[in-house]
Amino acid sequence: MDQLDKAFSSRSTNASRERRVKILSLLRQRGPMTRAEIARASGIAKSSVSILVDKLLLEGHIHEVRSSSDNRSKSVRGRPGDLIVIDPSAGAAIGIEISFGKIIGVIGDVSHEVLASTTIEFDSSSNTNQMMKMCQSIVSELLSTTRVTPSRILGIGLGIASSINKFGEDRYNFSQEIANTTTIATKLSDLTGFEIHVENSANLAGYAEMIWGAGKAFEYFLYFKLDQDIDGALIVNRSVVSGANGGVADFGHIVLDVNGPMCSCGLRGCLTAYAGLESTIKQASVALGHEVSLKNFLDFVEKSDFLCKQLMEDCAHRLGQGMSYLSRVLNPEAIILGSSCVTLSPEFTRVLSQSFSKYSLNKNQYIRILDGQLGELAGALGAAATVLNHPLVSI
Ligand SMILES: [Zn+2]
Repeated sequence: MDQLDKAFSSRSTNASRERRVKILSLLRQRGPMTRAEIARASGIAKSSVSILVDKLLLEGHIHEVRSSSDNRSKSVRGRPGDLIVIDPSAGAAIGIEISFGKIIGVIGDVSHEVLASTTIEFDSSSNTNQMMKMCQSIVSELLSTTRVTPSRILGIGLGIASSINKFGEDRYNFSQEIANTTTIATKLSDLTGFEIHVENSANLAGYAEMIWGAGKAFEYFLYFKLDQDIDGALIVNRSVVSGANGGVADFGHIVLDVNGPMCSCGLRGCLTAYAGLESTIKQASVALGHEVSLKNFLDFVEKSDFLCKQLMEDCAHRLGQGMSYLSRVLNPEAIILGSSCVTLSPEFTRVLSQSFSKYSLNKNQYIRILDGQLGELAGALGAAATVLNHPLVSI
């Protein structure tokens, strides 16, 4: 083989390897796909996809599964039996979300099957070290429940309620102290021995809804997360936009009324100050004349306590108002609402939609407002997905 032949052969081998990696990366990020979907998403010609997929099937890197046994959207086109899924033994990812009063963990494999989930509650006095030890317990429990060996774990995604700047150096306010997010990742990595990817939990939940939940059908939507505070995610062209410094979609701090209640950001009348669960519970405690926990409050709402039900309605009303103001600027296809703390009732969504309609311009009346489909697991699932998004370098 002369030098020219060798160079050509090496280039074509590299190109083939790159395309194989691209296909495997896609399957890892998006879950089961048809050959046609792989071709569309990768930009590789259908005929080449067919050849590469057949080779990967032969080598055991991927499997073919029947679409009828798959729980994907009915909108997925293709013949039954032509869904391609990455070999589950290629690895698994753990996702953890530190939420309002609880830590939620999930473990899923690279084929996007959720293997187990668990939750630990914590009290408001817990410090960073204690929280990281609780995360470590979650990891141990998930591994022992599923019998997944640590060598199969590709990493841990950790969702926290803070914006993460591009240097990963933003600060997270645990109950008793301010902790640097890089420090949090290092502590958890030291405790578990795994690589840690830290991200804003609303961005993660929005991302998870885009891949598996209510956002599957949309290219451009807003995700609102109702937790201790209000936070959100902006999804454009099926990507979560983080902004120049991680600060996009801080929806909780749009000002509804400059004379409104004081907000933690230093301004008055932010959406969070009206509709965040922490402020709503504080209002309930003042009105009832005694300290109310989130659980007590939700029990009262469930039992149709007039005052607590009214506070939840006020929360829905303010959320609808905030969503309408944002829609004037962003004009999304849809708005998806989720929470890792509360199961939102149809009545909540009805009040919210009514309020949205009341404050919206005509052109925004068509915007669909939907409940998320992943419930309290959305943030943790998104955290696991960030691990699967980590680029493959070789196969
Ligand atoms: Zn604020």
